[in-house]
Amino acid sequence: MRKRIRAVVNGRVQGVGFRPTVYNHAIKSNLTGFVKNIPSGVIIEAEGEGESITDFLERLRKEPPKQAYIEALHTEEIRPLGDVVFEISPSTRSGDLLIGMPPDLATCDECRDELFDSKNRRYKYPFINCTNCGPRFTIVQELPYDREKTSMDSFKLCDQCYAEYTDPGDRRFDAQPNACAVCGPALTLIDDKGEPLPGNPIEETAGLLGNGRIIAIKGLGGYHLSCVATSNEAISLLRSRKNRPSKALAVMFSSIEEVKRHCEVNETEERELTSFARPVVILHRRDTSDLSKLISPDSEDIGAFLPYTPLHYLLLSQIDCLVMTSGNLAEEPIVKDEQELRRVLGNIADFALIHNRPIVRRCDDSVMKFIQNKPLLIRRSRGFVPEPIELPFEGPPVIACGAELKNTFCITRGNKAFLSQHIGDLTEYTSYHFYKESIDDLLRLLKVEPEIVAHDMHPDYLSTRHAQKLGIGNIVPIQHHHAHIAACMVEHKINEPVIGVAFDGAGYGPDGTVWGGEFFLADYSSCQRVAHIRQYRMPGGEEAIRNPIRMALSYIVTDFELKADSYYGSLFRAIPPDESGILQQMIKNGFRSPLTSSCGRLFDAVAALLGICDTISYEGQAAIRLQSLSKSGENATYPFDIAQGDGLKVISFSPMIRKIIADLKSGKEKAVISAMFHNTIAASVAEMCNQIRSSEGITKVVLSGGVFQNDMLLALTEENLKKAGFEVYSHQKVPPNDGGIALGQAAIAIAGQNANNAS
Ligand code: ZN
Ligand code: ZN
Ligand code: FE
Repeated sequence: MRKRIRAVVNGRVQGVGFRPTVYNHAIKSNLTGFVKNIPSGVIIEAEGEGESITDFLERLRKEPPKQAYIEALHTEEIRPLGDVVFEISPSTRSGDLLIGMPPDLATCDECRDELFDSKNRRYKYPFINCTNCGPRFTIVQELPYDREKTSMDSFKLCDQCYAEYTDPGDRRFDAQPNACAVCGPALTLIDDKGEPLPGNPIEETAGLLGNGRIIAIKGLGGYHLSCVATSNEAISLLRSRKNRPSKALAVMFSSIEEVKRHCEVNETEERELTSFARPVVILHRRDTSDLSKLISPDSEDIGAFLPYTPLHYLLLSQIDCLVMTSGNLAEEPIVKDEQELRRVLGNIADFALIHNRPIVRRCDDSVMKFIQNKPLLIRRSRGFVPEPIELPFEGPPVIACGAELKNTFCITRGNKAFLSQHIGDLTEYTSYHFYKESIDDLLRLLKVEPEIVAHDMHPDYLSTRHAQKLGIGNIVPIQHHHAHIAACMVEHKINEPVIGVAFDGAGYGPDGTVWGGEFFLADYSSCQRVAHIRQYRMPGGEEAIRNPIRMALSYIVTDFELKADSYYGSLFRAIPPDESGILQQMIKNGFRSPLTSSCGRLFDAVAALLGICDTISYEGQAAIRLQSLSKSGENATYPFDIAQGDGLKVISFSPMIRKIIADLKSGKEKAVISAMFHNTIAASVAEMCNQIRSSEGITKVVLSGGVFQNDMLLALTEENLKKAGFEVYSHQKVPPNDGGIALGQAAIAIAGQNANNAS
């Protein structure tokens, strides 16, 4: 019996080789008809014997294109038309970000094989790609995603490439960045004066790297700064030139085997390392690794990733492992073009490996780690953006402006939230510029006119100022930690009241103090602070953040009589004696010393007490050192108090600090003290949640805030809470740090609006 069906497919189905796959399956199943892009996705009409159609749909379900994501597939039976062939109809591509553009995709296995096949016409061609792989987000100027609207526009396809591009049976059918050595982009190696060097650029670059030189290498979403990962000399040179004394540097390895030689890798981590997103995955270094310790001086972790462009594959075929860190100065945005390269070349890099395919949109590498096989994103960017995140409800379009550091922003449409790529520290002028530019860019791509603007309650954040300048009448300030909790709720599609635990460095509290160790009763439209960590002064405000030793002083001066104990003197060797007196006064009278309940500052204080971190050169350094020092398998905890303050419960760690000082005096192993400290924080969270549950009856606990990037603390806290019978939720799709804030802001703004409309 001859039948005909019409199938409408929604999801990520354009720009991923969907139609050629359908075509191939249809041919194999002996069907006639057509497949075509439509604005909402893809439409298929297929005709043939009834079982052939079943067979075809089964194939499509089992073997969809690698990069496709089928959200919905609706079929209906229609009247047979008697087509004689199956064809891919010329079609208007979608102009919609929801359908039209996946993230940048790492080089696929087939392309990699061709790259190293001396008989292939693209042998060693550094821009090889196909329908399943290659750049997307970073080369598109405008949607729909067509070659003329990408930075490949200026390269005219040669006859052979054109034939591939237009042949539905070819694996490069409709691959927008398709190219070869005859018609596509090319590499050049230049010196610090911008002069091109003779020879094969890849081989020359590998040679220079081998000699300890620093090279700026143009990648997918920006330049990397690269040097060999085994040379202390090269790395310390890179660190001093980049003004990055100790923050960890990512390492790109030639193969997964090479990663395993240096780091411990489990199956989940391997799957992520080799995925099309190719993020940097933070792994534990093996004792036997001969990589320079200078890669991550503060911990035993290594941020590892694998080649994701053909250029990387070629380079890493000559060198086993390379430091590949964002090409920028300090906290500036990643350098993306040859104009900006001038800031780096000659100052940091000795040479640059450049090419002539422009990067339209900068996009840093994503960074993540795994905790008991659950992903934890530290930075969500290349490979993930612009994939939308589903909100638990629909609402008017919102622009959420994010926070100040590790900024990302978020734009919503319907029930989809588009979280931007990593923007960075807005207090840097160039980052702020990148921020404004990126907001306009994403609004344009999404074709959204926001009706609501959401921003952090902090009046001085540049993101707040920008929100006010957008000229949107409906402007909603949102408390920092409420946004943290809401972001995590969105991920888990929770839409009911929870106990929210927000532990981070700092967030603006409506009472004028600095929050960061908070317990809330929260849903999207309300957030009631019910408990917090006891407050201490931050002598000198921001200076106290840069100098953890000041927080240690603050804890001690507030709780104990400093002068009575000569031991404290030796603890505070890092503070000059005259300054120490002034700081003590400031702590006592509060001059320029805001109160904070921040958990991040508690980590700082304890790290400084242990003498492992008096000052920091990057955010979170003290906590990273403290965690990496911790001895595993230690179960003991320190004492802490929970008291009823003015309407709020307050956890005091003063008893713990007293005990830690006693342990230090008696020469207890610091690794044990650090482990006990982590155990104590985790136990205190469970105890506080217990008390809240007994009065409120809520059993869902949501954990958020930058402190929970500490995987040891997160695992311990989850374990304690689960043991106490809670349902625990933590971040898996967006970062717990301020990089996830904008998603929470957007959800809160929509919920508020929907509540207004309902009343
Ligand atoms: Zn490919
Ligand atoms: Zn060509
Ligand atoms: Fe925060």
